[in-house]
Amino acid sequence: MRAEDRCPAQWIEVEAAALSHNLELFRERLSSGTDLLAVVKANAYGHGLAQIAPHAAAVADWLGVHSASEARQLRGLGIGGPVLVMGLVPPADLHDLDSDTHLLASSADALEWIGEYRTRTGVSLPVHLKADVGTKRQGVDASQIPALCRQAARLGVEIVGVATHFANIEDTIEHDFARLQLDRFCSLLPVVSSELGGLPPFIHASCSAATLLFRETDFTLARVGISMYGHWPSRETRLSWILEHDGGGLQLRPVLTWKAIVGQLQAVERDASVGYGRTWTANRQSQLAVIPVGYADGYSRALGNRSRVLIHGRSAPVVGRVCMNILMADVTDIPEVSIGDEVVLIGRQGDDQVSVEELAAFTDTINYEFLARLSPAIPRTVV
Ligand SMILES: *Cc1c(COP(=O)(O)O)cnc(C)c1O
Repeated sequence: MRAEDRCPAQWIEVEAAALSHNLELFRERLSSGTDLLAVVKANAYGHGLAQIAPHAAAVADWLGVHSASEARQLRGLGIGGPVLVMGLVPPADLHDLDSDTHLLASSADALEWIGEYRTRTGVSLPVHLKADVGTKRQGVDASQIPALCRQAARLGVEIVGVATHFANIEDTIEHDFARLQLDRFCSLLPVVSSELGGLPPFIHASCSAATLLFRETDFTLARVGISMYGHWPSRETRLSWILEHDGGGLQLRPVLTWKAIVGQLQAVERDASVGYGRTWTANRQSQLAVIPVGYADGYSRALGNRSRVLIHGRSAPVVGRVCMNILMADVTDIPEVSIGDEVVLIGRQGDDQVSVEELAAFTDTINYEFLARLSPAIPRTVV
């Protein structure tokens, strides 16, 4: 695709084939009794909900979102099938949800609200109880689960699942705490079973790292987020995988490429400073490409004087401060650059590649955050 053929100054391309490839890798790993849930919260990890969801739904059995409004957005996109809302749904947000929209409930209050929704609308939203087994985030202490089961029965709220979430699988290659959490979750299951007169159909605990490293966390539903977009949850997860699989690879393919065009060329004489705060000074006669992307788009200000972009398949260092909507790259060594040329901020161009992980490391964060902060205003296209 030639940059000149596109109207926008910047855009994101998502590769449908890479997404399907990654999802199929997980699908193949799961046993036949385990459903695959594709997590598309946070605008599909910054990839674009509208672009990702139809392709994800073609492979995965479920889609997972954070909020009720994201669930409504999916329906607005014409996507049917089960959706799991994993975050808080306050009473004011309980509207226009269908009975294939499942909620994760973490409190007695949440069950009350869901019961009221049923009374008000006649729609029974299936509920998965979220047990906390040591993450101390969302979820009720496992000891309160029996009380919630009884409350649900009184309210006529249908419990179809029980779930939990791990604290630190991604953060370490020592998985003692994850195993302890798994043990706690497993010992809760017979309790739930005796309360409900049998185990509910959907038992789930996993995320990408858990599904990659601990097959015993799959139960009947695996919740896969970051890795469906082609990224390892962390270096530690990758290292654990390599140790376990004797160096064997798992070929995740990054789905997202972030592109822009060169908006202007700026000649800079030797010893002249560049940009706000004058944080970079040319030590030779230089040529800069002015690129219409900045921190408002998700290109963190912390990347100034640190990162690089690709132009003509070569690295151009980002020089000076990253502005709200503009950044500058030193293209002195790429003399063929002209206005309108395609710039790659994240992804591959020619033989080189800038990874999200590289940018996340410069900004002292993780690939998840960098992706999730890509502005929803950037146009997205499926290739
Ligand atoms: C975001 C999320 C996931 C997915 O985690 P990844 O590490 O991106 O795979 C799974 N479960 C819950 C509850 C989540 O909030």
